[in-house]
Amino acid sequence: MLSEFELIRRYFTHPAPHTRLGVGDDAALVRTRAGMELVVAADMLISGRHFFPDADAKQLGHKALAVNLSDMAAMGATPRWALLALALPAAEPAWLRAFASGFMRLARQHDVALIGGDTTRGPLAICVQILGEVPAGEALMRSGARPGDEVWVSGRIGDAALAVAARKRRVKLDAHELVRLQRRLDAPVPRIALGRALRRIAHSAIDVSDGLCADLGHICVRSSVSAVIEFARLPVSGVMKKRLDLPVARRALLAGGDDYELCFTAGPERRKTVLAAARRAAVHVTAIGHIERAASRRPEVRVVDRTGRLMRVESDGYDHFR
Ligand code: ADP
Ligand code: MG
Repeated sequence: MLSEFELIRRYFTHPAPHTRLGVGDDAALVRTRAGMELVVAADMLISGRHFFPDADAKQLGHKALAVNLSDMAAMGATPRWALLALALPAAEPAWLRAFASGFMRLARQHDVALIGGDTTRGPLAICVQILGEVPAGEALMRSGARPGDEVWVSGRIGDAALAVAARKRRVKLDAHELVRLQRRLDAPVPRIALGRALRRIAHSAIDVSDGLCADLGHICVRSSVSAVIEFARLPVSGVMKKRLDLPVARRALLAGGDDYELCFTAGPERRKTVLAAARRAAVHVTAIGHIERAASRRPEVRVVDRTGRLMRVESDGYDHFR
């Protein structure tokens, strides 16, 4: 039987770049560079709530870090250090090896050092804390959207939620379609390069984790503005496009979440600059609407069809307590 310390040594002790002291002491020691602010976030994944209990361990390792990197992307930050707190039902070497390989592979891709964590027995839960850096004053926040801004989104949205709907048999997809969409759910790509490229360009940003309308709604509330989304401009995959008449697909698109794309706003005069930044980051971005003054100080997100008519959105997004 693997001991706690042997487990940490074997699977979670790796060379830690740009770190003074990593795994093995009571705490880690890091040094931020001059002129930088420390950006800190944590995200938890619970079995049966955030992932199916039979989820592949390697993909889980990837996803646990990816959702945290996505928060760094949304801040325009460069991720540098991660901590990993794990509750495990049992110390299974095969599971641990796969989990650690998925986690560390993504960490190395982004030059992120795993510098500590905690390991305990319990129902499977994965909590990652991420630390990053951003030049002082340049972090992207939810609070900077201004009336007149264009609203942008990266990549394509709704696929991850459509995959969940298919797994719950609420929509039928062909086998090859499900495989493609399932990848979006299991292996989100954090938009780090885009977030960094948008520093000093975007007025506000958020990552789409709870659903487009809900997350854009967070920007609106924090910025005291309203947003209008033009449904026809939303970037969708071929699989989604074929099903846009189904309420379940529309819900996935507008309120699904789990895409980990970036939603951001920028002045309309910066359109070319935004497109150039996205090209540098090798990510596709689409303008999907605009920001308005909030009527009677009530921030809201409205979705309109081709003719400008208001569309009903059934659910705003995921809320664990509703
Ligand atoms: P403490 O008792 O001081 O909390 P632990 O025995 O829990 O220390 O952990 C020993 C070292 O291993 C610490 O440096 C801790 O940060 C690290 N560690 C524990 N679990 C993990 C993990 N899952 N991933 C990475 N580092 C870990
Ligand atoms: Mg501990």
